[in-house]
Amino acid sequence: MSGVLVRGCTLWDGTPGSVYCEGGKIARIYREEEPDLPPGAELIEANGGSLVPGLVDSHCHPFEYGWLKRSVDLRGTSNLTALRMRVSSGVLKAGPGDWVVGMGWDQEAFPGRTMPGRADIDDLTPSNPVALSRVCGHIGLLNTAAIRRLGLESKSGPEYERDAAGELTGIVKETALADALSALPRTTEKLSADLLSVEAEAAKLGLTALHCIVSPEGFREELSVLAGLESEGSGSLRYRVYVPSEALGFVEEKGLRSKMSGDAVRINGVKVFTDGSLGARTAALREPYADDPGNSGLLRMKDSELDDLVERADSAGYQVIVHAIGDRAVEQAVGSLSRVTGARNPRRHRIEHASLVPRDLVAKMAKHGIRAAVQPCFVTSDNWAAERLGEERARDLYPFRSMLEAGVVLSGGSDSPVEPLSPVLGMWAAMTRGGSSPGESLTLEQALALYSTGAWSNGFDELSLKVGSRADFTLFDSDIGGMHPALLRKVGVLATLIGGEAAHSFGAG
Ligand SMILES: [Zn+2]
Repeated sequence: MSGVLVRGCTLWDGTPGSVYCEGGKIARIYREEEPDLPPGAELIEANGGSLVPGLVDSHCHPFEYGWLKRSVDLRGTSNLTALRMRVSSGVLKAGPGDWVVGMGWDQEAFPGRTMPGRADIDDLTPSNPVALSRVCGHIGLLNTAAIRRLGLESKSGPEYERDAAGELTGIVKETALADALSALPRTTEKLSADLLSVEAEAAKLGLTALHCIVSPEGFREELSVLAGLESEGSGSLRYRVYVPSEALGFVEEKGLRSKMSGDAVRINGVKVFTDGSLGARTAALREPYADDPGNSGLLRMKDSELDDLVERADSAGYQVIVHAIGDRAVEQAVGSLSRVTGARNPRRHRIEHASLVPRDLVAKMAKHGIRAAVQPCFVTSDNWAAERLGEERARDLYPFRSMLEAGVVLSGGSDSPVEPLSPVLGMWAAMTRGGSSPGESLTLEQALALYSTGAWSNGFDELSLKVGSRADFTLFDSDIGGMHPALLRKVGVLATLIGGEAAHSFGAG
């Protein structure tokens, strides 16, 4: 394996230097002297660009994103007509009776902000079942053909929305949506291709590793694709894998934890859900929604059920990551996790999203060493959140700075495909917050740490920038030190080095 010399960069400590990587490791760091290119080595001229520890997305769904790339993309549709046009074009491409799948609609962007129903799409295709996930992934719209195909006509309960006449509207929530999606056909060939297309994009964006959330619907196929990746040292991304609790039996039975325990692909933990999303008003709140006074959201499990699940996963040696968005859900998650963390939380259990976190819960997280994986772009996207929560409660949304100052270890991510995969966009959002609760804005150093130090730590990857340690780096096209967020947002990635090899590079000599 030949080496790579990154020449003339701004090192992570802000000083000028060069770095030579060989055999997957940092072989030499030059600070004063001009390096010569070792024979056979690849040269990357940095022209002063910042070389930072490899960026990591600490919560994303690459299989879903890959699937989205080849399904009907409903993101950005601002009315029903636009949604219908995109579904129609999907129907044209589908074979007779094939599923038409779409993702990313958001009724908050529609005039009147009314939820769509199956009556709005039934005339587009009587024979193709259609399933369209809302941008949050917690609510979906099914057409009548899909309801029939899945045999849902007689289903009842809050997860199957019915109108005043008692008819299913086509809107399904939470586990009802998950059940519907699990019935969709999946092949490992398609999933592999999906993952490859996401890998290429991620490397261009400067990402060296993904904390990959495996879906409850397709874990068998997704895990088999991940297990088949022999990406050690090949320049492909690293995967830190989180499986749904439903998959635990499968993982144990197939011995997947020992098969997927390397530096390239590793099963780290178990993902557990406690609630839904604010957008869908299914996030569990201590007090009702300001704009829906009869509704406080939904907890998916009783406290005792979550306790059992957390205890079982913890004692089996898994890191437990708990999806919790509303303050009631965060409270429940903190309650269950704190039973197993001790004071130091050696398994690094963490809360995913941690959206509405009042001060008492920030303090409890810090006390028990409970970590969080947050998505800064939610702050700028959820510009309707104050209506859901009221101005006062909205001040406790995404309190990144308060959590850091209390000592909570934070990592950044995109929740892609919910938000764009770009870590730089996430850093920008963490610094600017679209103006909401500006006191919670992070500095550039803190924002960068979310996607590097924090994310490495939250995924059990020890960051050490010494000779002999793992050579995962992101090289920006300029020196980002002290850069204004507006400029940072536009900064380019010159190279992404994974295990000392360029997974992506412009200007390699
Ligand atoms: Zn997610």
